[in-house]
Amino acid sequence: MKTWNTASPEETRAAAAELAAACREGTVIRLHGDLGAGKTQWVKGFAAALGFTGEVTSPTFSLLHEYEGKGGTVHHWDLYRLEAKTDWEVLDLAEHLDGDGITVVEWPERYPGPWPDGVWDVRITMTGPEGRRIEAGQG
Ligand code: ADP
Ligand code: MG
Repeated sequence: MKTWNTASPEETRAAAAELAAACREGTVIRLHGDLGAGKTQWVKGFAAALGFTGEVTSPTFSLLHEYEGKGGTVHHWDLYRLEAKTDWEVLDLAEHLDGDGITVVEWPERYPGPWPDGVWDVRITMTGPEGRRIEAGQG
């Protein structure tokens, strides 16, 4: 388990970049945290560390955004709007979890699984207006 205490969005992005350096093709990350915790800021830093230079926004309505960088492709899911009755076959999430690139999933609680072996959990907790605790662990 690794922990960061950040005091700004920049520091949260830097923490994500550190973890990105330890990820490889096929890594799946469940990204936990309340609304406004900083999940999308974290993904911004993560994708930038893999060489992506475009815009990173929460795929709340489209569910999936993909970022191509020199260091690999990031599949960025946001399952916030999904309900329990979602047809997971249609969504194709399982395919992505098995596929290439690196997958980051916001609101992973919405997906019943199965998750792949070796999945990472990253949890962001608010500790103040600009304070965040970020905990990352595998398994
Ligand atoms: P989420 O995706 O978890 O809903 P966002 O990343 O979209 O959250 O938004 C986080 C908000 O909190 C942004 O407005 C960001 O500027 C602000 N913020 C303040 N301090 C931090 C911090 N230490 N880390 C990340 N975001 C922070
Ligand atoms: Mg978000």
